[in-house]
Amino acid sequence: MSSQATTHSVHEWETIGPLQLQRLLEISAILSSTLDLKQLLNQVLDAVTALTDTEAASILLVDKATGQLHFVAATGLTAPAEDTLVPLDGSIAGWIVRHGRPVILDDVQQDARHYTRLDSATEFVTRNMLGVPLVTKNQVIGAFEAINKRNGAAYTEQDTAVLQALASQAAVAIENARLFQQSDLVAEIMHELKTPLMALTAASELLARGPAEERRQELLQMLQRETTRLSKMTQDFLDLARLESGRMRIAREPLDLPALVHDVVCLQEPQAAARGVALEAKVPQKLPLVRGDFNRLKQVLLNLTSNAIKYNLEGGRVIIRVRAMAEHVAIAVQDTGPGIDPKNLSRLFERFYRIPDREGFSEGSGLGLAIAQKIVEEHAGRIEVESEVGKGSTFCCYLPISE
Ligand code: ADP
Repeated sequence: MSSQATTHSVHEWETIGPLQLQRLLEISAILSSTLDLKQLLNQVLDAVTALTDTEAASILLVDKATGQLHFVAATGLTAPAEDTLVPLDGSIAGWIVRHGRPVILDDVQQDARHYTRLDSATEFVTRNMLGVPLVTKNQVIGAFEAINKRNGAAYTEQDTAVLQALASQAAVAIENARLFQQSDLVAEIMHELKTPLMALTAASELLARGPAEERRQELLQMLQRETTRLSKMTQDFLDLARLESGRMRIAREPLDLPALVHDVVCLQEPQAAARGVALEAKVPQKLPLVRGDFNRLKQVLLNLTSNAIKYNLEGGRVIIRVRAMAEHVAIAVQDTGPGIDPKNLSRLFERFYRIPDREGFSEGSGLGLAIAQKIVEEHAGRIEVESEVGKGSTFCCYLPISE
């Protein structure tokens, strides 16, 4: 999806006052100093509200892969679930993106394009609005909107000129931050793919030479193992890329935690039995309301439980405990495995990190915990680990209780 952008006339720039020009220069220095997308979006929002004397502001970006428009950041209003989809047809932001033109609306409620569902999601009444497209290399990558000018005032042509100047700088910075995130990840992914790919190449070459039956079986098993590993890695890469670019949609449904834990125990029991590990769960039937994404949290708990079994000793135990605290519900996965040396604890949640001297312990991608942490953080929660060498480890997710 692409739209042609409008070019700024010299006249537009002339309408910007000297004070605003000064602020724009300061802001452009700040914008080019970070490649962290979240931080950058917040800085852009601060700049929008300061430059136009506005109550609230929001940024919407087009997802390159799907062409859909996403609400990605807001200030001054209760942000809807991050990543809310906004229709390209039937929303003002969509109109701005499609036409590549700014728009001033003095009475948004009277405008047929106004997407009222976002107002109810944000608990906010949009009075007036100034929206401008984010344009870089003749492509509209999104839009930002200044909402409700303070003191009941109306947006002016000068505000439009200022925001367009800001938009052209912000668009470049946002694009750079997105590219940086991806290139970093792509390089790491390529590196991680090398090992299983090399194993696959070697095994298939050896098979082609027609080895003896016993060796043939061994090589076939290796092919199967590495293919399974590659497909699991692919899924992990996709999840991580979605989480890191803010494209993973997280539901906010009331959660049935006893059902969630039950599912995890059922799914992991065969793995536990195969390793000679006893798996049990202790979950109170009555728990305060927690909202979230059942399947994503199940993925988190499956990962923690599968680690607790994988890195356990024969005859070991794994207990999943859920308990209500003052502001959180805690879900802990405790094991009686070898434990983790304190010097490795702080790096566990880094992507691709695996404890070095344990490479042979069990296969994995080193992505499980990075993904788990990101998912829990998307729920405004946190994940913590406690461990004692020789005794075992406990990974605990704290999820906020819903009001
Ligand atoms: P993976 O299991 O795919 O290697 P993770 O991100 O899930 O990746 O875990 C990262 C590393 O943390 C593992 O390689 C392992 O060394 C260590 N680890 C995770 N869970 C446990 C556990 N319960 N006990 C001991 N070590 C663990």
